[in-house]
Amino acid sequence: MTSREQNILKNYVELLAGKAGFSIGYPFSVDFDYSELYGLLQYPIANVGDPFIESNYGVNSFSIEREVIHFFARLFRAPENNYSGYVTSGGTEGNLYGLYIARELYPEGIVYHSSESHYSISKNIRLLNMKAIEISADEKGEIDYQDLEMKLRLNSHLPAIVVANIGTTMTEAKDDVPRIKNIITDLGIESHYIHCDAALAGAYLPLLEGNPKFDFANGADSIACSGHKFIGSPMPCGIVIVKKDYKEQLGEYISYIGSLDTTITGSRNGLSPIFLWYTISKIGKEGLRQRISDALLTAEYTQKKLQENNISSFRNENAITVVFPKPNDRICAKWQLAVKNGMAHIMCMPGITLNKIDNFIEDLLIAETDAVLMN
Ligand SMILES: *Cc1c(COP(=O)(O)O)cnc(C)c1O
Repeated sequence: MTSREQNILKNYVELLAGKAGFSIGYPFSVDFDYSELYGLLQYPIANVGDPFIESNYGVNSFSIEREVIHFFARLFRAPENNYSGYVTSGGTEGNLYGLYIARELYPEGIVYHSSESHYSISKNIRLLNMKAIEISADEKGEIDYQDLEMKLRLNSHLPAIVVANIGTTMTEAKDDVPRIKNIITDLGIESHYIHCDAALAGAYLPLLEGNPKFDFANGADSIACSGHKFIGSPMPCGIVIVKKDYKEQLGEYISYIGSLDTTITGSRNGLSPIFLWYTISKIGKEGLRQRISDALLTAEYTQKKLQENNISSFRNENAITVVFPKPNDRICAKWQLAVKNGMAHIMCMPGITLNKIDNFIEDLLIAETDAVLMN
């Protein structure tokens, strides 16, 4: 490398470290340490095709990927011996996969999703050329069950594919899957499918006390979850779990890879299953439970601090997302806050320290004082 290029890299690494120090607005855990796995970077690890079928390309991590699938299938109470899935590039691909399976099962089906669904849902609906109906959401971000019932009733002659948000992007609201399932069955809609977009909260809700209200035992047919959010990973990734007999609707045998083509992308990242497996086996369910309980305490602390400074905030039940009025643009840019409808949020992901929250609040108060002085 020339010295110019060395400079580019050095400046980039510095900028990155600086940005990482002020990242509290997006759902990335930052408490991971994968240094034990760095030696793997010397191999071109790629998982080609279905993780449950060995393919010709041997430099893969299928055996570890299957462990990850088993872990999440159990976490989501998938039917014993009737689940499948794979490690995806992220929540978006998991949503695409769930909707793809639903469309193969019910080509005439209508997708119902709330106005608070993640943007990947409407994008995937467009990609799959499916019909969709948007349902309104309440002020906390949860789907409006009356509106859902009314719209399902109007179309009860057609299969219903409902997307339940398990942690909306802005307020981390959770749609109640048993309640959705009841509405569908009460209307007598036999052909139905429930896909859970659990990208954000799927990896920790089942670890908390009480019924998680979104898993397979509660009526889900497929669940998409992100891997880089709560579990934490240096590269984006995700997990999708589906019922196995549904998956068997798709996938042609491809002789070139010597496997079934049941995944969306061809060559998949072979490292991400290893990262996920590393965390779940190193700290186990107990360690994960500790992390979510710490994160919930950080969220509580954040709300308390905001309140002490007369800043109103709001948080859904069991949510690590704290929503408050959008601060000025300098603060939003510096702390990388996502903004929508005049509101911003902090995501108290594992690794976000109380000290960082304190620094943010201090900065916020300076900004408020500045605003008063300018008036
Ligand atoms: C993050 C997120 C997604 C998209 O996940 P990616 O991993 O970024 O593709 C989808 N839905 C919800 C609710 C999310 O929070």
